[in-house]
Amino acid sequence: VKRKERSVSEYVEGVLNNDRTILAQAITLVESNAAKHMERAQQILHELLPHVGRSIRIGITGVPGAGKSTFIEAFGQFLCEQGHRVAVLAVDPSSSITGGSILGDKTRMENLARDPRAFIRPSPSGGTLGGVHRKTRETMLLCEAAGYDIILIETVGVGQSEFVVRSMVDFFMMIALTGAGDELQGMKKGIMELVDAVVINKADGDNKPKAEAAREEYNQFLHYLRPATPGWETKAYTCSALLGEGIEKVWNVVEAFISVTKQSGAFDARRRHQLKDWIYSMIKDYLESSFFSHPQIKAELPMIENHVIAGTLSVTKAVQQLLQIYETKKGSE
Ligand code: GDP
Repeated sequence: VKRKERSVSEYVEGVLNNDRTILAQAITLVESNAAKHMERAQQILHELLPHVGRSIRIGITGVPGAGKSTFIEAFGQFLCEQGHRVAVLAVDPSSSITGGSILGDKTRMENLARDPRAFIRPSPSGGTLGGVHRKTRETMLLCEAAGYDIILIETVGVGQSEFVVRSMVDFFMMIALTGAGDELQGMKKGIMELVDAVVINKADGDNKPKAEAAREEYNQFLHYLRPATPGWETKAYTCSALLGEGIEKVWNVVEAFISVTKQSGAFDARRRHQLKDWIYSMIKDYLESSFFSHPQIKAELPMIENHVIAGTLSVTKAVQQLLQIYETKKGSE
């Protein structure tokens, strides 16, 4: 039996009343690539705009095995006990390739998932990083409208996804392990210029002294980096997500960050910058897919490519020709 479609106002009221079933259905609309669903989703989001933005948005990255889901479960439960309501989202563009998702397996956060004060949503599947970006951002807005005042966005420490998460959160942390030396060498340096805290996890048992040593190593290194947020010094901390130790300290760091950056104006400046950034990245995504899915471009591109490779056409001329095809066609539609 086909379910009767809800009206936009039913969705809006349901989300505002934190009806979890309706919230989940609204997110499904936001995640859909069908034009009809997209339009509805946009109507719902438009109505909800006055109710969004009043959360603290926290991004969490780290290599697989660092303990992100263990940390999120402990951190999320701690926050719920403090009277907060916590939504957990994920950005995992690889899920569109593998079909899986880093948060797909909810058993990884069993206790948090059972808590009525928490809401967990796996990464949207299907599509480009740009698509995942939009869907996650809009899902975040829906969760805010539903009254979740802390949004945790998990991502895996690979590729561009960390930049995407940085572009949608107020506070960004990296969950790290001991053996910092290796991470400090390579590409992790770039990531450390994005984060507001490094949390060295698994500081328990025999590993405790090593975690302390790693913390000092990170701090020495971080001291020479440009901070990710003006007026805030990124530092390293230790915790044991498994034992729940150091979790409150991490929250105190986030609170201090929010207070310092709200006072300095850096908090609001970042939010404004993120909105502009979102506009531009959506325009780019839209134009790119519109260009490459254009039938005539698809038909002519291989020939024009061959001319360039054969040396009978310059790259600039080739691009001009393609843009002309694209624009002429657009105009005649
Ligand atoms: P993720 O891939 O980053 O989400 O990592 P998980 O949260 O799935 O954790 C990977 C493994 O590390 C699991 O076996 C956890 O039980 C373990 N683990 C996570 N946090 C801690 C911790 O604080 N101490 C110890 N000893 N093990 C931990």
